[in-house]
Amino acid sequence: MKDKIVVLKFGGSSVADNEKLKKVANKVIGYKKEYKHVVVILSAQGKTTDKLISEAKELAKDPNKREFAALISTGEQVSIAKLAILLNEMGHNSISLTGWQAGIKSSIANKCAIIENIDVSRIEKELGEDKIVIIAGFQGVNRNNDISTLGRGGSDTTAVAVAAALEADKCYIFSDVDGVYSADPNKIEDAKKLKEISYKEMIDLSNEGAKVLHDRSIVIGNKFNVPIITKSTFNNKEGTLISKKIEENTVKSIVKKDVSKISIIGEGIMRNTKLIEGIINIIDKAEVEVLRIEILDAKISVIFKDMVDDDLVKKFHEVSFN
Ligand code: ASP
Ligand code: MG
Repeated sequence: MKDKIVVLKFGGSSVADNEKLKKVANKVIGYKKEYKHVVVILSAQGKTTDKLISEAKELAKDPNKREFAALISTGEQVSIAKLAILLNEMGHNSISLTGWQAGIKSSIANKCAIIENIDVSRIEKELGEDKIVIIAGFQGVNRNNDISTLGRGGSDTTAVAVAAALEADKCYIFSDVDGVYSADPNKIEDAKKLKEISYKEMIDLSNEGAKVLHDRSIVIGNKFNVPIITKSTFNNKEGTLISKKIEENTVKSIVKKDVSKISIIGEGIMRNTKLIEGIINIIDKAEVEVLRIEILDAKISVIFKDMVDDDLVKKFHEVSFN
């Protein structure tokens, strides 16, 4: 047996119901035979987070940030407790830990907080008692001792960050996709699954539209050199290994992405610091991710990670003509 730690992360569709939770439990037990310590990170079940978000928005157009984070982080608490109940019932000593119980300390931002550090003492204590430790993804505690969330899809980031903090051997990301492909397999018949890809390539792929992993998880993997393996929960096919690679010059993948770009035109606006400040302010407040900002002499362009709606154009217009 490897005297090592493995981190296993399961996405929302992998834990959607009791049947699937049993599949996950069996996988976890399998890894526990192979590794001395197993840490599991879970997402919320199925579409739980979407549902919680829309429920909050029925109550308030712009829900209080603190309470919003408190609400939308509950989905993960349900899934971790259920898996712990199940594993204990199956005879495997397990404990669920919320983000704050697991020592996941984040920045103040309630909506898209950054993991600042992880105090692993509680996790290590439980592992020392030979328990399978099941941690809620997507959540942490900020310096005000309030619950924070890491942005949509953030459980991947929890998983890789925990793997880095524990110096785990590997971090497996299980989901309904079995790896990274040379193109979107739903659109390109000939798309092939990649055996491996570098962090750098994966970061580019993710920024350019591939929705395999939360992008910050790969940045952390790269920084701390955590081998990340994406695999299917539902079959035993080999996944894709994301790790450091020596230089190569082969094509890995081709990806298409529809993005939004908003541009402000005007001679010399590059020197209008008040305008630039205003734009940054708007972006800061909006729930959008920015890929790039281009500031040229007569044009400021903001390229968004995804499609944005016209409301943002309205805000840019307001700030430009005020
Ligand atoms: N449950 C959260 C979401 O739906 C986090 C995650 O699944 O990674 O965004
Ligand atoms: Mg995800």
